[in-house]
Amino acid sequence: MQRYFIDPAQFGDKTVSITGEDARHIGKVMRSKPEDKLIVSDGIAREALVEITEIEAHEVTARIIEQLEASGEPRAQVTIAQSLPKGDKMELVIQKCTEIGAASFLPFMSERTVVQYDPRKEEKRTVRWRKIAKEAAEQAHRSKIPAIEPPVAWKGLLAKLPEYDLACVCYEKEHGQQLRDVLKPFAERLGRGTEVRILVAVGPEGGFTEQEITQLEAAGAVSVGLGRRILRTETAGMAALTCIMYETGEMGEI
Ligand code: SAH
Repeated sequence: MQRYFIDPAQFGDKTVSITGEDARHIGKVMRSKPEDKLIVSDGIAREALVEITEIEAHEVTARIIEQLEASGEPRAQVTIAQSLPKGDKMELVIQKCTEIGAASFLPFMSERTVVQYDPRKEEKRTVRWRKIAKEAAEQAHRSKIPAIEPPVAWKGLLAKLPEYDLACVCYEKEHGQQLRDVLKPFAERLGRGTEVRILVAVGPEGGFTEQEITQLEAAGAVSVGLGRRILRTETAGMAALTCIMYETGEMGEI
């Protein structure tokens, strides 16, 4: 069934209103008709099965049939901290990691980041990234749209590490420790249904410097290897996230 995220203000007690591009999508692309059913979510807490009552060009109105238990969200809340990659690779990271189950994204700058940070382009880019996250979350039947935090400088990344229960840095020269080892202490907490916040830091095309790894470790991060193969920056986050989802039992449950 098609799913749409709507603004919490458009989520009434008995009816919901779907506006903008989504309304056009329902009418023109899906060719839905009154009485067709959809699932809507406010992206925070509420989710409902609804039946379309009226379709206009810019607004679709629907009656709530049943409030649903918000589902589809992993208990491991993973933030992908991605050193800003070149071109439009960040879009790929956001799209794919949203499908796999990332809770949020934190782009950051590091010594070998190639992309020049341009605050003038920031707003437009963030709007585009949020749209990609929303569409991927709808497609993947998520209940929440992952948050996209504004890019931070290196010191900003270090300052954020204490906010997490576990911070991992993917480091291709780390051959001892893997994700499975560092996740073990959290398995019991996740088993009890407690949410765990995990940050996964991925370096840029040229990787992290040794000094950066030392600084991350001093700030509380643990370095993990993802095997003997060197992954591209846009692949590393997806691979690490998939491992976390697997190790925390999110890959088989329905
Ligand atoms: N330039 C480096 C590789 C950088 S890969 C080199 O050629 O050696 C870009 C980022 O992906 C790295 O900073 C790291 O965070 C992650 N990464 C890639 N392969 C990895 C691996 N095998 N183990 C852990 N992290 C990896």
